[in-house]
Amino acid sequence: MNEKKIRRILDTMGMMFPDAHCELMHRNPFELLVAVMLSAQATDESVNRLTPSLFHKYRTPEDYLKVPLAELEQDIRTIGLFRNKAKNIQSMCRILVEEWNSQVPEAHEALVALPGVGRKTANVVVSNAFGVPAFAVDTHVERVSKRLGLAKPDDSVLEVEKKLNRVVPREEWTLSHHRFIFFGRYHCKAQSPRCASCPLLDFCPEGKRRMKAPASMKAGSNRKNES
Ligand code: SF4
Repeated sequence: MNEKKIRRILDTMGMMFPDAHCELMHRNPFELLVAVMLSAQATDESVNRLTPSLFHKYRTPEDYLKVPLAELEQDIRTIGLFRNKAKNIQSMCRILVEEWNSQVPEAHEALVALPGVGRKTANVVVSNAFGVPAFAVDTHVERVSKRLGLAKPDDSVLEVEKKLNRVVPREEWTLSHHRFIFFGRYHCKAQSPRCASCPLLDFCPEGKRRMKAPASMKAGSNRKNES
């Protein structure tokens, strides 16, 4: 894809979602880290329903270590995979206390070394909490990138990230990450993308395919995209 097309994608998403931002509620890097860990395979809405009370009870890494694991599990039980997440949060907090003076490290490699923290979580934390450009690839970013032909259908998440890093100017990585998410969440939805009214339809391979396909085939393609 040439530079002009990339520019048009970024500018179009910018016009559609000028205020795209991190929707996970947080007041500091530590709360953001916990919120992103909780959000794995869960919606931001479900995390935001939980975190006001959670962050009121647990303010520091030490607070999470003061309670038995079973109590933390109960406190986050509304979130999927809560047992595993509770264990990872306590392990992560232990390392913050023992090795990082109870602070969240700013270095990407230090973050991914924490239990339960993968590349996407580290990208979200460094970009939103510390202002380091990063293009975190979540399910929306991956789907939108593949539909628009910015990545191949069988590319891994890491390959998608590398391709986006190559074509999107570095200073726009963080904002573009938010805009791709908003575009995927509210417009190019997994089940029913709004291709007919999409300003990017004229060069979107997936959109053109869908507009040509009979309704029954579009439904099949939707199901495939959901898997
Ligand atoms: Fe998504 Fe359809 Fe727009 Fe392509 S044309 S970006 S598939 S909404």
